[in-house]
Amino acid sequence: MRIPKRIRTYCPFCKQHEEHVIDRVKKGRASTLTKITRQRKRQTGIGNSGKFSKVPGGDKPTKKISLKYKCTKCNKSHQRKCFRAKKFEFSE
Ligand SMILES: [Zn+2]
Repeated sequence: MRIPKRIRTYCPFCKQHEEHVIDRVKKGRASTLTKITRQRKRQTGIGNSGKFSKVPGGDKPTKKISLKYKCTKCNKSHQRKCFRAKKFEFSE
């Protein structure tokens, strides 16, 4: 999927359409291992262990892409709902 680096779209701060520079949001930190192990400890061995009973799979074929839209007028940025795509790049 290709997306232009600059796009004219709605700015929630200016409350009108302005030119925006699109930036890719960097991937946040994955859930810490300590948190998961702590959750796991709570299990007693009786019954279904909920989400931990799932077999861990590999990577998904598509990656979630979240974009940041920075308004060139007010210099504020907002985000939109992220989507999934196999390949993602900016077109000039
Ligand atoms: Zn704005």
